[in-house]
Amino acid sequence: MLNFGKDNISLIIEVLNMTKKASTYENVTRQFNKAADIMGLDPQIRKILSKTQNEIVLNFPVKMDDGRIEIFTGYRVQHNNVLGPYKGGLRFHPAVDIDEVRALSTWMTWKTAIIDIPFGGAKGGIQLNPSDYSARELEHISRRFTFALGNNIGPEYDIPAPDVNTNAQIMAWILDTYLSTIPPQDRNRSLHVVTGKPIASGGSVCRDKATGQGVVYVIEQWARDRSFDLKDATYTVQGFGNVGSWTARLLKPHGAKLVAIETGSSGAYSNPEGIDPDDLYAYVNSHNGRIIGYPKATPIDHEAFMSTKADIFIPAALENQITAQTAPLLNVRLVAEGANGPTDPDGDAILAERGIELLPDVLCNAGGVVVSYFEWLQNKRSEFWDLEEVDAKLHKKMVSGYERVREAAQRYKTDWRTAAYIIALSRLEKVYKERGIFP
Ligand code: NAD
Repeated sequence: MLNFGKDNISLIIEVLNMTKKASTYENVTRQFNKAADIMGLDPQIRKILSKTQNEIVLNFPVKMDDGRIEIFTGYRVQHNNVLGPYKGGLRFHPAVDIDEVRALSTWMTWKTAIIDIPFGGAKGGIQLNPSDYSARELEHISRRFTFALGNNIGPEYDIPAPDVNTNAQIMAWILDTYLSTIPPQDRNRSLHVVTGKPIASGGSVCRDKATGQGVVYVIEQWARDRSFDLKDATYTVQGFGNVGSWTARLLKPHGAKLVAIETGSSGAYSNPEGIDPDDLYAYVNSHNGRIIGYPKATPIDHEAFMSTKADIFIPAALENQITAQTAPLLNVRLVAEGANGPTDPDGDAILAERGIELLPDVLCNAGGVVVSYFEWLQNKRSEFWDLEEVDAKLHKKMVSGYERVREAAQRYKTDWRTAAYIIALSRLEKVYKERGIFP
């Protein structure tokens, strides 16, 4: 039997703590504290913003195709609604847990404040692997989750949207279930309970591509500021779902060249001559959403992908991809965060030390929530805006968000993530001070 002395035990605990991976919410807290310290956030308001307002955990039963009952755990965390209704996506993924949803909901509060739309922050999800279920089962899971949420969501209260592994079809099921459970007289004025719907069911044109389009608009501004020609620029993308594929396809008309791509279970592929994003998109759509076996690029491993030399790296998959372990590998000039939370605070510090610039998620991927806001407005007003109008309005929002963050980074002499947080915290602080705390 092993015998540990008291000193040894302390040492082991210290080592375990050092090696323990920080939780995503701990990362959010570190980012928040850094910005709050620099701007001198009021300590009372700091207390309020450092907590989520409501955390809803639901265990609910669903009948499977074979007649079995399975119990699912779903989450909705509402971080803050002082600037408007709670807003944020729903994710279906095995890694969904309360810590992740807390972090994602907090980022939504900062994002809506930075990009200046009248929403608060929320996020939700169900812990499951969608590929384990049939389409019919996924429909029943989505509907039963909506039913379990009841009036914890609502068109003027908390408005979900698509995120990882959820899409317009799932939003249509959520809409239909929600409308079926409210009085008939309220149904037609409640279409805005969810955004990212199919267009025929009240969705907005451009919502599908909105996040990727926003990423591209922000990259364009960055390039313009540096007189950097995107023609022939090289870039890599992690994740080829909604955000990754749209970003790549919308960068193509600029002449920029996709040189490596990575997705979860399909691995990574590279081609220094360039991968055509439209061709890759067609391949993925005809191969069950996977890039495995793509014939016009060579398979590479994760380390080779992260080390690929390019001008821009666009993480568009999951959190905590650029860390103390991987940040030293990057061989790029700019990281443009399409995903939420792809860089942890250690990764941030290493990128800064290495002179790699970063356009933070809370600015860079805000296009999705901006067009969700446009969809919400169109539903409320029974209007339908055309693509030209939505694109122009999105462009204006992304450019002014970019300019605000650039200006704050210069004023506070800090990195862009911290600058973006300072904008959000200042807005929230102002409103709390004006309104005071009831009673
Ligand atoms: P999606 O489900 O459409 O696509 C996710 C992609 O990531 C898939 O290609 C998947 O294979 C890949 N992936 C999963 N795990 C991976 C791993 N470990 N390594 C590499 N690739 C992996 O999801 P999405 O809607 O494109 O969302 C991607 C990210 O963007 C998430 O962080 C999400 O929160 C964020 N985001 C999405 C939106 C939106 O409008 N959909 C808006 C803002 C931010």
